[in-house]
Amino acid sequence: MSMMYKSTRGSAVKLTSAQAIKKGIADDGGLYMPESIPRIDLDYIKKLAPMSYGKRAESVLSLYLDDYGKEALEKICKQAYSESRFGSNAAPVVKLSDAISVLELWHGPTSAFKDMALQIMPRLLSGALDMTKEKKTALILVATSGDTGKAALEGYRDVDGTKIMVFYPENGVSGIQKLQMCSQEGNNVNVVSIKGNFDDAQTGVKNIFSDDGIKTELEEKGVFLSSANSINWGRLAPQIVYYFSAYCDMANSGAIKIGEEINIAVPTGNFGNIFAAYMAKRMGLPIKKLICASNKNNILTDFINTGVYDRNREFYQTSSPSMDILISSNLERLLYALTDEATTRGLLEALSRDGRYEITSGLREKIQKEFYGDFCSEQMTAQTIKNTFERYGYLLDTHTATGLYCANEYINKTGDRTKMLCVSTASAYKFAPDVYKALAGAAEKDEFDASDKLYRLTKKEIPLPLAGLKEKRRIFTKSVGKSDMASEVLSFS
Ligand SMILES: *Cc1c(COP(=O)(O)O)cnc(C)c1O
Repeated sequence: MSMMYKSTRGSAVKLTSAQAIKKGIADDGGLYMPESIPRIDLDYIKKLAPMSYGKRAESVLSLYLDDYGKEALEKICKQAYSESRFGSNAAPVVKLSDAISVLELWHGPTSAFKDMALQIMPRLLSGALDMTKEKKTALILVATSGDTGKAALEGYRDVDGTKIMVFYPENGVSGIQKLQMCSQEGNNVNVVSIKGNFDDAQTGVKNIFSDDGIKTELEEKGVFLSSANSINWGRLAPQIVYYFSAYCDMANSGAIKIGEEINIAVPTGNFGNIFAAYMAKRMGLPIKKLICASNKNNILTDFINTGVYDRNREFYQTSSPSMDILISSNLERLLYALTDEATTRGLLEALSRDGRYEITSGLREKIQKEFYGDFCSEQMTAQTIKNTFERYGYLLDTHTATGLYCANEYINKTGDRTKMLCVSTASAYKFAPDVYKALAGAAEKDEFDASDKLYRLTKKEIPLPLAGLKEKRRIFTKSVGKSDMASEVLSFS
């Protein structure tokens, strides 16, 4: 019996994991969730502890993606988390102090945590196309404001049965991000910039997805459209793995005993990463509290503390741009996991109608039992980077800094001495100007100069993919108006 997947909004259709991954989002607008959550015990963790990251991934994913079969999953995990892509440990845990450890999720090809899922999801999709005997090529369309575009390009390059096309706003991504994308290698990739902002790029992609004329034209060419969105179960499931892996590493190093509870702090945007931690908890991994860290866009902090989710508010651009989000799509999965389909549908309908919803006090208490919500200002982000380097010699990026700040706030306010695991989502060198400014007090706007200065100041190694970037050849230089996006897609297909 395979694990079956259902929409969070209540349609009766049940899919295998391969079908859910191929489909992405349900027809009723809901997200896919497993029909039941598999449970593990401490013996399971003991068996996992001596394994490599790839083997741990194979074991945890087999509980959810059982329709792939053991052999296929083994091959997929081995390729995705190979040493050539992630180094010897894909997700190492570094001890800051007796109380706090850091889980580094940025040792992949693009130096940010999206690689953890985007290195494996394309292979899961390719496997799903095989298993469902799909003859057409999947064309992945992505609109990006930065990190996701490059991570998706690296993940899908040269993967059988797929092509990938990324649109980014011409003046809306950092210089490093732009160079990362424009120098992308691979024989199935394309990158085009848009004369407009991120919203223009995203709206353009959405319009292409819902255009029946384009759909028919692509079909005749043997192509169908798919997305690399973080709401796809194929991105969420692989994120559960690293919480198991971190727990094993903490046990192996003696930081905890197997069975001992830990707290986990996660810098949060779309609620995907932290929801994966919640799934690990529901499966039986000993986790006490999940610290949901936001930046100045603190809609989730307000939600957890008041029960009101309200996106009628100002949007801020911050130094942790990957958390600058007012709609946390994966929160829908939490609502579903704690209530039912009808309640979830009602709340999400209210959100699209009124831009807000309010949950019952009963549900709010359930959420508060599992989650602690807090946020970190711009000033405290910089301060945390500086303090942490001075005190521990550890270099944080801006996103991770918000998580560590909220973790410390939690410890100070509650006195909870449970061991804390802080999730680190990017290399500091991906956000070098802000990190350098936080440490040195002086601005350096040029990203490569800021990287060099940051290196001279801290002597912390620059990740190889970023270090080699300056010399890379620019392959993609095309820029088009937003009305030309559809024709670009058709000519690439
Ligand atoms: C995407 C991202 C986040 C937010 O993760 P979610 O799963 O969207 O909550 C945090 N930090 C970095 C560096 C990211 O790229």
